[in-house]
Amino acid sequence: MAAIDDLASEFARLPGIGRKTALRLTYYLLKRPPEEIRRLARALEVVADRIRSCSRCGNLTESDPCSFCTNPRRDPSVICVVEEASDIAAIERTGEYHGLYHVLSGRLSPLDGIGPAELNIASLLERVRNGGGVREVILATNPSVEGEATAVYLQKLIQPLGVRVTRLAR
Ligand code: ZN
Repeated sequence: MAAIDDLASEFARLPGIGRKTALRLTYYLLKRPPEEIRRLARALEVVADRIRSCSRCGNLTESDPCSFCTNPRRDPSVICVVEEASDIAAIERTGEYHGLYHVLSGRLSPLDGIGPAELNIASLLERVRNGGGVREVILATNPSVEGEATAVYLQKLIQPLGVRVTRLAR
């Protein structure tokens, strides 16, 4: 049936979901009460309509600027650079960081065609240059080969601006 195939195809586009799992999820949902399926559909609609990128830091947010950028208790002199918005939660859980964030939306990966222009690097440099007294940039990209390469690249760009650059050990 087309409707069942359509839904299974959508699930199969998600990371880590093969065709078999996609069909299992689809048939699981078909056994649930219609109201439960509609609730899932509504939750998807709400994130599609309301979530966007913060125009300052690139974090995913319902309100722009995001709650980090507008929080007067966060220290604006420190910016922690992460690959994805989802990385922020892990750092926040430590409870030890009180500065601001900048989300690159990826990491340098020449083989995948991802160069500096594909990442939020220009906006990071803009913040460091004119961002009201940034003193330190903490590079918290992942400890993968590409994450390290991205950190080295950023360090070379930011250090000449007279800002302290540190690498977050994870
Ligand atoms: Zn923000």
